[in-house]
Amino acid sequence: MQNRPANERVRDFNEVPLGFTDEQAIQEAKRCIQCKNPQCVKGCPVEVNIPGFLKQVALGDFSAAVKEIKNTNALPAVCGRVCPQEEQCEKKCILGVKGEPVAIGGLERFVADHERVNTKYETLNTKQIQNSNYQNTKIAVIGSGPAGLTCAGDLARLGYQVTIFESLHVTGGVLTYGIPQFRLPKEIVNLEVEYVKTLGVEIKTDMLIGNVFTIEELLKDFKAVFVGSGAGLPKFMGIPGENLDGVYSANEYLFRVNMMKAWKFPESLTPVKIGKNVAVVGGGNVAMDAARVSLRLGAEKVYIIYRRTHDEMPARIEEIERAIEEGVIFKILTLPVKYIADEKGWVKEAECIEMELGEPDSSGRRRPVEKVGSNFIVPLETVIVAIGNSPNPLIPLRTPNLKTERWGGVIITSDGQTSIPGVFAGGDIVRGAATVISAMGDGKLAAKSIHNMLSA
Ligand code: FAD
Ligand code: SF4
Repeated sequence: MQNRPANERVRDFNEVPLGFTDEQAIQEAKRCIQCKNPQCVKGCPVEVNIPGFLKQVALGDFSAAVKEIKNTNALPAVCGRVCPQEEQCEKKCILGVKGEPVAIGGLERFVADHERVNTKYETLNTKQIQNSNYQNTKIAVIGSGPAGLTCAGDLARLGYQVTIFESLHVTGGVLTYGIPQFRLPKEIVNLEVEYVKTLGVEIKTDMLIGNVFTIEELLKDFKAVFVGSGAGLPKFMGIPGENLDGVYSANEYLFRVNMMKAWKFPESLTPVKIGKNVAVVGGGNVAMDAARVSLRLGAEKVYIIYRRTHDEMPARIEEIERAIEEGVIFKILTLPVKYIADEKGWVKEAECIEMELGEPDSSGRRRPVEKVGSNFIVPLETVIVAIGNSPNPLIPLRTPNLKTERWGGVIITSDGQTSIPGVFAGGDIVRGAATVISAMGDGKLAAKSIHNMLSA
């Protein structure tokens, strides 16, 4: 799939990849050899029938293709854009052994977009819901991110009465407030949320569970509760100067850009202040997003400061490549040790130290070790800290019997149930900051377990 030229796209927030044409999509799908035992499906946490949908694309029946995907995945336009297919379905595709795997992600995006542009969204047969044995059984879902939306959608398909409680005034979780417009347009997220609503899911926004209702209170009204409240608590390094003016967490920065529409300034009234020289600390998708947003908001030099090398970066390879093409400067094997202020308390410099890689640590990646005496100064006006997020703490704090790991993740059994009977959880609140598709896989598992529990 082709991308827009870097020098053009870096000046706006429009999408970067151009997408397949009909003809390109058909040709690409025809490369699939329709394996009898398709390994690609084993690489998909929501078990999309990949050869099934590719067969329809190859035949030019794009509506049938998207219907096939939606049997197991309610958010194909989102997944086709942000899922790390190179680590999942495409990594397992048999054609990848000797050559290029089928571009499963690009084709998923293509058929979802085709549906959006050309046809009306599929709606569930209301008769099916009326005939359901479960239409009077109420389930509460906390959070409208990918975990919550998937769990809610699957339960609604089975005929349950599902209500999502979302703390923000908007739906979609990180898809809406975190990932920038040029990677995931918000119109697309909104339409996929609308699709979940057509399955019969009710969404109540501005409902901060833990404050408005506790889980104990929800259990009086609802037969089961799914907690998909995500990981939005930014981590910091704890180094001197992290509280200076001009130092943001990536969460705050991207939230301002997306939710207060700083990317549309001056059409929107809320700019976000950034300097000419910006340093983003971290090497994941969030760091790449923050760096690329900064370029688009007018920064002249944007650095990624990362303590390991390119090989260890957790961000998707294509996002790293796009960041490099757009002019982000990578300072690898570098660690900030302190931020220094000007006379008004604004950050003006980062003191960094060079690193080298030692023996592998518990994550299997080689441990970065400081090179003594290699300290140097990077002049800058803005720092964005993107070194990870922890699970949102409110629900665990307000739910006395909900067991959590020491780092804050809610503990679940293999069927997705928490320490409280009838309360299930999944996504980033369980895993810590992870991926869209793993959150969706967790939502799916919990929906199945809730159904098993209630239909036993
Ligand atoms: P979330 O998406 O965080 O949704 C949780 C929802 O619960 C939110 O809407 C929140 O407002 C709501 N909530 C929280 N507390 C409460 C409460 N007490 N009551 C009611 N509602 C509550 N993953 C990828 O696969 N590919 C990518 O390219 C990628 N890029 C990313 C870029 C950024 C900038 C970020 C931040 C993350 C990225 N991720 C990416 C990670 C991915 O977005 C998350 O793993 C995923 O969204 C987790 O889904 P979730 O449903 O568990 O949580
Ligand atoms: Fe097609 Fe590759 Fe899946 Fe085989 S593994 S069915 S070739 S996409």
